[in-house]
Amino acid sequence: MRPQLFYVIIAVMLEDYKLEKLVTPAIAWYEEHKRDLPWRKDKNPYHIWVSEIMLQQTRVEAVKGYYERFLHRLPTIKALAECPEDELLKLWEGLGYYNRVRNMQKAAKIIMEEYEGSMPKDYDLILSLPGIGAYTAGAISSIAYDIPSPAVDGNVLRILCRVTEDDSDIKKEAVKKKVTNLLFPIMPEDVSGTFNQALMEIGATVCVPNGEPLCKKCPWEKMCGAYHHKTIDQYPKKSKPLQRKIEEKTILLIMDGNRILIEKRPNKGLLAGLYQFPNMEGYESRETVVSFARKKGLDPLYVEELPDAKHIFSHIEWKMKGYLIKVSDLSLYEVEKNEAPVLIEKEKIQSEYAIPAAFEKYASYVNLSLGKKGFM
Ligand code: SF4
Repeated sequence: MRPQLFYVIIAVMLEDYKLEKLVTPAIAWYEEHKRDLPWRKDKNPYHIWVSEIMLQQTRVEAVKGYYERFLHRLPTIKALAECPEDELLKLWEGLGYYNRVRNMQKAAKIIMEEYEGSMPKDYDLILSLPGIGAYTAGAISSIAYDIPSPAVDGNVLRILCRVTEDDSDIKKEAVKKKVTNLLFPIMPEDVSGTFNQALMEIGATVCVPNGEPLCKKCPWEKMCGAYHHKTIDQYPKKSKPLQRKIEEKTILLIMDGNRILIEKRPNKGLLAGLYQFPNMEGYESRETVVSFARKKGLDPLYVEELPDAKHIFSHIEWKMKGYLIKVSDLSLYEVEKNEAPVLIEKEKIQSEYAIPAAFEKYASYVNLSLGKKGFM
């Protein structure tokens, strides 16, 4: 009977758990164990904003280089607001989810027009800016201004659900809202930013999403339900992800000498406004791509089939095959109405044109490095 009784006492839902007892050990642990990260050197709200947006979907180690480069080129909110779009997208190349940086620029323009160039010192005003959700608003307002506001993302949900053995589906927006509301009253005055960062750090370095959590190093080891009941692998609960739509494509690397053909994607939809190698829907044969090139007025001299590749977006998966097509003179390309091809030296792509990571494998066949590797 005793173990079961213990279970009843510890395994409570988030709503019933005394979350405030997590605060002091988390802050003490963070002060001792926090990593030395570039965005933790100051409390500049712009720096915190840039880092938090970059860290969505991207690992800390990968973000460091992008972060330094972005702030080197755009050191202020004003510089971000005024940056030409192509250059902005090039700075973001490799990070993906390009709407994030487009929204940052929209928000920067609003900050310039309505808040005299400074991030407002108010949670609700920060939350009202384009591209800033409850998590980012909480992170900026607490870390920069110590406004007691929670910052709840998947990491925070995971660790809290493990501690309390709460089986809520953390993919549901309602669960995130519930946890945010539960945290608001326990946010410590004056050190709310430290507490939020402690939660982030525990999620990133101790109670990790993949692999065994390092419970012996966790400040909550003695109060964690999942650890005591050996149920860690049961939390957090997540509903099954939606089935991705599969799209087949044929990618064409059409070159003469050192020039290569790229084109701009439409201004709406997936990867809007970025550049890409010309491509065709479906898997096409060598004959079809040769005939495509000839119809465009080109003169294929050499055609090589390239290995398949795939790229996974959140709801779509591209399955690609590709061809390298060397032609005598790209200038012969016959432009059709609504087409905007660019014949460009490879070096210029490296420095000026943002090509999404979906094309990375094919770019490598023509010795082009995309993203951070290809910049500067
Ligand atoms: S004790 Fe283990 S499972 Fe519980 S929060 Fe800490 S690392 Fe995660």
